[in-house]
Amino acid sequence: MSKYIFITGGVVSSVGKGISVASIGKILKSRGISVSVQKLDPYLNVDPGTMSPYQHGEVFVTQDGAETDLDLGHYERFIGVELTQASNVTSGQVYSSVIAQERRGDFLGGTIQVVPHVTNEIKSKIRKVAEISQAEVIIVEVGGTVGDIEGQPFLEAIRQMRKEEGRDNVLYIHVTFLPHIAATDELKTKPTQHSVNELRRIGIQPDVILCRSDKEISGGIKDKISLFCDVDKEAVIPLVTSETIYEVPLLLEDAGLGEFIVRRLGLRAGKSNLEEWRGMVARLKAPKEPVIIGVVGKYVELRDAYYSVREALCHAALAHNRGVKIEWLDSEQLDGMANDKLRQVQGIIVPGGFGYRGIEGMIKAAKFARERGIPYLGLCLGMQIMVIELGRHVFHSDKVNSTEFDASSAYPVIDLLPEQRSVEQKGGTMRLGTYPCHLVAGTIAARAYDTEVVYERHRHRYEFNNHFRQPLEEAGLVPSGLSPDGRLVEITELRDHPWMLACQFHPEFKSRPDSPHPLFLGFIGAAKETLVEGAQTSLPLN
Ligand code: GLN
Repeated sequence: MSKYIFITGGVVSSVGKGISVASIGKILKSRGISVSVQKLDPYLNVDPGTMSPYQHGEVFVTQDGAETDLDLGHYERFIGVELTQASNVTSGQVYSSVIAQERRGDFLGGTIQVVPHVTNEIKSKIRKVAEISQAEVIIVEVGGTVGDIEGQPFLEAIRQMRKEEGRDNVLYIHVTFLPHIAATDELKTKPTQHSVNELRRIGIQPDVILCRSDKEISGGIKDKISLFCDVDKEAVIPLVTSETIYEVPLLLEDAGLGEFIVRRLGLRAGKSNLEEWRGMVARLKAPKEPVIIGVVGKYVELRDAYYSVREALCHAALAHNRGVKIEWLDSEQLDGMANDKLRQVQGIIVPGGFGYRGIEGMIKAAKFARERGIPYLGLCLGMQIMVIELGRHVFHSDKVNSTEFDASSAYPVIDLLPEQRSVEQKGGTMRLGTYPCHLVAGTIAARAYDTEVVYERHRHRYEFNNHFRQPLEEAGLVPSGLSPDGRLVEITELRDHPWMLACQFHPEFKSRPDSPHPLFLGFIGAAKETLVEGAQTSLPLN
């Protein structure tokens, strides 16, 4: 039978609840305890797939093709698990399923209410993760902050869980923030007290309080929180802002959280083994010469939109014993100035995206990379951009395009498959999740992966148009990864170029700090050898 840890947030959002959850998973797993994780999102969208990155940041795609919250990316990277659709539940999903049951007549004439019908549905979705994963501990993060109107049914559901699963099988952890008042140089606990009061009002007494703060937390502050919030002093855990997110599991472990959870939940656990992780964090923090990478996208002012890309770059650079300095280049601003900015980077990434805005700047970046032999890695949209750019060069026409951006293009080098043309619904109708890809021997891709078949995650609607394959191949395009039937081009690279490769899938979702992705490794390997025009021999340390 699984045990449950429920994590709620208080005071303000963005205090690193997702990283805390991922870190708790890590410290339990490091004791040989099996864990699975779930995020409950109180918004009404069925999934974040239809939300703009401005609303939501990155959409993380699981192997089974669910479009989920970016926190699932943290969980997978820290804990090294592969999650499924069941790990991200939204109010939209809960209500759709309750309403579908009502329409089927499942409730036999009853009045359908938030309690018990909606809360029952939430509990059944939580238990489903236990059933699918068979993990010893299920860690469940409730999105939002205590006090949000839409979060109430979720809090009520997790309150009921303790009663139903037994007191010793459920643990509540509340993540709060201690603001610092500069004038008096003090950390304040009052917002935490209020937030715990709000939790208690609905019947949840936290067992652990994680106190995020930008300053050291004194013993006196811990005493105060322990007293007012009625939590053991050893369960008041400081979470002082760290240099790298990967350090958080170590901070929590060293503060005794692992031992506390094991004892409270009566878990059978081995000794904690975080030595490799500790070594990785030490190497990450050591000063290293950075590789300078330009990421050319249209959401660059929002770093969360490319979260997994940023992490994958950092993992690959670490494996090369280098740091990474990312220049975020807004593709809409890449006009005449493009060369100046691009001249200063050692490698260019064009990440995923949707819609026409910013496309022309990305095409300029791909042209720059092709003409100057700068390493280029295209991710999903970035592959389509590489193909469009080469097409414009080959056919001497700026009419070469994807039908996503120009429906009547004379050279639709990227297009929908015929069978996709009738799809009208927007949510959940793309090519989503893991598909196999066969690598062509002797190519950059085959060398990077050093294997014949790879499985990568997709999230796109448009595909390489085989009608243009021959002229593009003649011009140097190498389709180096193909679907098993050979019909879909999954990877393209450029002949006679140091390293220009792009893939129709999203390799960034599979990179881990302790196991970087082969394509990112290959890309950073090529980029670190690239000399920046006018650069001094020794670059500043990051
Ligand atoms: N907009 C493109 C498509 O739908 C690329 C999507 C992406 O980059 N994820 O095919």
